[in-house]
Amino acid sequence: MPASENRPKGKLHSCLTIDVEDWFHILDSHVVPGIKQWPSLESRIERNLKEMLAVLDSFSVKVTFFWLGWLAEQHKDLVCMCRDAGHEIASHGYAHVLAYEVGPDAFREDITLARDILENIIGDQVRGFRAPGFGITKKAHWAFEVIKESGYQYDSSVFPASRGHGGIADAPLTPYFIETQSGHLLEIPMSIVEIFGHRTNLFGGGYLRLANKLMIKWGIDKLQAAGRPLIVYLHPREIDPAQPHLPLSLLRQFKCYVNLSSTLPKLKWLCKNYTLFTMLDMVENYIRSFYLESKMIPVLRLRNNRTSSELSLESEESAFSADPKTFRSKVLLVEKAMADFLGPLNPTFSAETEHSGIEADAKV
Ligand SMILES: [Zn+2]
Repeated sequence: MPASENRPKGKLHSCLTIDVEDWFHILDSHVVPGIKQWPSLESRIERNLKEMLAVLDSFSVKVTFFWLGWLAEQHKDLVCMCRDAGHEIASHGYAHVLAYEVGPDAFREDITLARDILENIIGDQVRGFRAPGFGITKKAHWAFEVIKESGYQYDSSVFPASRGHGGIADAPLTPYFIETQSGHLLEIPMSIVEIFGHRTNLFGGGYLRLANKLMIKWGIDKLQAAGRPLIVYLHPREIDPAQPHLPLSLLRQFKCYVNLSSTLPKLKWLCKNYTLFTMLDMVENYIRSFYLESKMIPVLRLRNNRTSSELSLESEESAFSADPKTFRSKVLLVEKAMADFLGPLNPTFSAETEHSGIEADAKV
């Protein structure tokens, strides 16, 4: 039976993303070599990335590669190889910095540089961004403004659960637009499921390596039942059990190196049993399906809490039912953001706005 016949029917929006970095690009530990040492270290990216590309090619799966700018500079040929194979090229910043550590100015410089480098290499626009270490926390909420201002259209940096570093534990679980000074930034948070009331991930990094296929399948079924997208995320080093090991703490060693030999079989299993897209294709399918079903994608406003400077993601949803006038303006706002995202791909999109607005069921 062909693999496609085994794939689940239904509306699971799913994508596979790969953060392209080397074995020494591990965050948040003083034993990790700094950027000045990187050129002198053994590089294992070519071997690992080519192996991943061969697997993806064998299943005809197109994915999104979030390239680290520093690594892209050293391996322009590999970036082009990914592009030429039909994959999406997106950005993972330049020097693998944590947004909440470096602050707005250095972060802006880092992600602008990465975008310039990648666009020069591929000769095309780079639309997506993912922050190293999911380093956008409540205290680094300024990062969304900076990402949009730096020319990115979508972001996939929010990890809406507790984790060692980064993450916003109570952030929304579905995709949403964030209102910024420079327009709407589409946020695609990592996929999260609840186990006994505890938010967790089963679909990327150490979480995917630890979970067995039954658990992962259970998690994907839960996402599908909730109408939320599946976002798988991997790193090339995760298919490389022979990589050098850094002298991390025992806990970090466990998280970084557990079950490395399981990644490749799980990647093949996912490619065989699920329909996986690039993040950009998945997002466009998602937005389009919401539009066709007259459902809304929430728009969240960043609000500074004066006492703590922490992020409050305030949903506009409550405004929908309060005042019909406000409701209409918010609906149009959402549809404009959706139309802006889809751009010229769907010319009839905004023409139908007038009909779908007021009657729309403002479900998210
Ligand atoms: Zn990274």
